[in-house]
This record gives sequence, C-alpha cells and structure tokens, in this order.
Amino acid sequence: MTLDELLAALPGLTPGESHMIVHAYAFAEEAHRPVRRKSGEPYFVHVASVAGILAQMGVDAATITAGLLHDVVEDTDHSLQEIKSLYGAEVAALVDGVTKIDTLQNNGRLTEPEYLRKTLLATRDDVRVLFIKLADRLHNMRTLGSLKPHRQIALSQETMELFAPLATRLGIWRIKSELEELAFRYLEPEHYRTLALRLQFNDRTLNHFIEHVQQQVETALQRNGIQATLYSRPRNLYHIYKDMAARGISLEESFDVRGIRIIVDDLLVCYQVLGILHQIWKPVPGKFNDYIGAPKDSFYQSLHTTVFHDQGSPFEVQIRTVEMDYRAEYGIAAYWRYKGEEFDRKVDRKSVV
Ligand code: MN
Repeated sequence: MTLDELLAALPGLTPGESHMIVHAYAFAEEAHRPVRRKSGEPYFVHVASVAGILAQMGVDAATITAGLLHDVVEDTDHSLQEIKSLYGAEVAALVDGVTKIDTLQNNGRLTEPEYLRKTLLATRDDVRVLFIKLADRLHNMRTLGSLKPHRQIALSQETMELFAPLATRLGIWRIKSELEELAFRYLEPEHYRTLALRLQFNDRTLNHFIEHVQQQVETALQRNGIQATLYSRPRNLYHIYKDMAARGISLEESFDVRGIRIIVDDLLVCYQVLGILHQIWKPVPGKFNDYIGAPKDSFYQSLHTTVFHDQGSPFEVQIRTVEMDYRAEYGIAAYWRYKGEEFDRKVDRKSVV
C-alpha cells in the first residue's frame, strides 16, 4: 500500500495526525530497507500492508502509526526509546505491547485461555495492541505461500487455535473469517480444494439466482421509495465445511451458501423492508430473528429472515443499517470510529477472557 493509498483510506485526520503517519511511513521504510521477506519483497511491504488492514478497520492515528512501526524494535537497530521521543508515549506503548506478545508466543505453546490472559496482561489491557496483532497475523497468513510447508502448517494451526478465537472474542468477524479460511486452506488442502471447486460450479447458477432476487427486491423497495444497498452475503469456506460435516448435509442444503444483505440508512426502515419482503415471499417458520430489538451478546444487530422463493430453495436475508453493518464486520474496532475519544480504551476483561 502506497502512502497516498493509506492516507486516502483514513478520512478525517487532523494535520498533526497525518504528519505523524507520513513520518512513520518514511521512518519504517528506511529502517527495514535492507531486509527482504521470504517472498523476495522488501520487508516494508508487510508493514505497509498491516497499516492498510488497520485503516480498513477504522482505528485511530496512533494505532496506524504503531502498525507502521510494529516490527521496528524487534527487527532493526532502533530502540523503543527512539520511538517514544519521535512519536510519543502512546505510540511507543502500543509498539511495546506488540513486541511483548511476540515474545510470549516464542516461549512455547499456550492454550487459548492462557494466551488471552497473558496477552491482555502484556498489553496493559489496551485493545488496540490486539488490533495490530490481528492485522499482522492476517497479512502473514495472506502471504504464507512463500514459506516452507512445516511453517505453513504451524502458523495455520496457531491461527486456528489462538488468533481466530481472539478475533471472535473481539467481534471482528471480517478478520476472523478470512483467518479461518486461509488456515483451513493449509490444514485441509484436499477438502479446501474440493469445496472451492464445487462452489465455483455452484456459483454459476447461484449468481444468476442472486441477481434475479436482487432485481426483484430493488424494484419492490423503489416502489416504496426506499434507498438500499444490496449484496450477496460473503461466504466463509471453512464455515460451510464445518456446517456440512456437523449436520451431515450436502453443499446445496447449507444455508450458508446463499443469502443476501440489505443495507439501509435508518433503523425503522429495516422493519419496513422486512414487511415488504414477507409480502413478496413467505417466511420460513422459525427462521426469523430480530437481533435489532434483542442484540446478541456481542452487540450484533440485524434482522434475519429466511424466505421461500418462487424458484428454487429458501434463502436467507439479513437487513441492517450502515452502522450496524460496520459494527457487525469489525466489532470492538468499530466502536472507535463511532465513539472516538469517549470510548474506554481498556477492554473489559470479563467480556474477552
Ligand atoms: Mn509483523
């Protein structure tokens, strides 16, 4: 990710914040300059990509800066003291937290609860350190291809056992699901390939169907003067695989395969859309959930319904507002954007461990 791309992904920075990020970007590029990754790319590509993932999560400027600097103390001659004098105590504490977690991991295999407990202690409960750690692991998993097979397996196992659960606890579904899918690919290559191939074939009919459904919904909403964004629900191959294995069902029977999301601006409009949909297609009994009125423990909010379509099998529809959608994908990280400074930086231990 270039500096321009990174800055474009960070709307609303103050001049001071953007100066700090520009400076850290150049500093990290220089610090890692001689080093290359196993793939042959300059090491800095990793660091810039981590900052890019963090920007997508919507975190604050200090976290982005620490993301750019996260490997500087561990991998170069620069000291934490230097980071502190250049970027302040807040950024230095975040970098220090990430370095401490890395040391934890190198001290032998930990179970998930031990790992979480020790991690939170090491980070002085600052949840932003965990955002950086998750972004770091996600980029390492995306680029796992250039490592030796035994490292691929070891990192994938650790990702499944520690990092995907960590993302789950923080409600960062977007990252959890990509981590799981990448780890699944290396841990069960045969099953992964077969399923991916079958989904590809399935997609030809599916895409056709989804397009048709989207058109029908759009027309109905327009007639009622409702503005909405529709998209087909992203899939998690690992989730589908587990669902099929656990319930002994075929790919076609898995509800995870097909579904659409409808995103609107306003909470009340969600219920209006639901009413309109149920007039077009009959709801499947027992499949309606109002997670807006009664949010899940993770604060997840959305309306879920499964409807019978006139052609083919039932499909699921999720309806929510833009803000709910962002929170559903990024969990705790999303609260940063909406609550800013008021948000308590200390993660509530009871909710995570
Ligand atoms: Mn790293």
